[in-house]
Amino acid sequence: MRFGEVVRKIFMIEILKGLWLTLRMLFSKPVTIQYPFERRKVHEGFRGRHALVRDPFTGKDKCIGCMRCTTVCPSRCIHIKREKTENKMVVIDYIIEASRCIYCAYCVEACPVCALVLTEDYEYSQYKIENLVFDKERLLKNWDEFTKKLEKDYYFNKFWQPPGIDPSRWPKTKREQGPIQIKRVEEIKREGIDESHGH
Ligand code: SF4
Ligand code: SF4
Repeated sequence: MRFGEVVRKIFMIEILKGLWLTLRMLFSKPVTIQYPFERRKVHEGFRGRHALVRDPFTGKDKCIGCMRCTTVCPSRCIHIKREKTENKMVVIDYIIEASRCIYCAYCVEACPVCALVLTEDYEYSQYKIENLVFDKERLLKNWDEFTKKLEKDYYFNKFWQPPGIDPSRWPKTKREQGPIQIKRVEEIKREGIDESHGH
């Protein structure tokens, strides 16, 4: 054994180093939080619980039943029931099996009218898998629950503008979409804004 090692052993240098580290950590700011009493703020663009955007002017969803989301979904977990009336397509139901979703957000990027989003909600675990099958009503409720907690009156959807592409080459519908407004239907009515402002 070398002299240096003998000294380290005699004076218990490693143990003292460990104790010093413990002492320092006792007085430093913790990196953990006391969940669920405290919650971490997630970043914009976090891919959480699915929602159908509620059009603030009509109070309904914005889906036009184009089926682009179902076509691009690699998990095949979006199911749309639609009916053709005389001159337009009506979406009867819109179902997402969230337990099968891989949160790739292809559906959000593909949607031409920004009808579907992955919100920043992450607390939606369930005991029963069937509770993770979201139908149209549930998806609209997810939007209401999410927007109620937002401090601003718009939602910036990270995925509506394809990154890395010259903006002039974005599809027209994506280019013209601004942040999603989340004003309540009642508020809009109170302010007397005509419903024709909707899409
Ligand atoms: S995030 Fe991806 S996997 Fe999930 S529903 Fe959308 S396209 Fe499908
Ligand atoms: S892509 Fe958008 S508008 Fe088309 S069916 Fe899906 S949610 Fe509806």
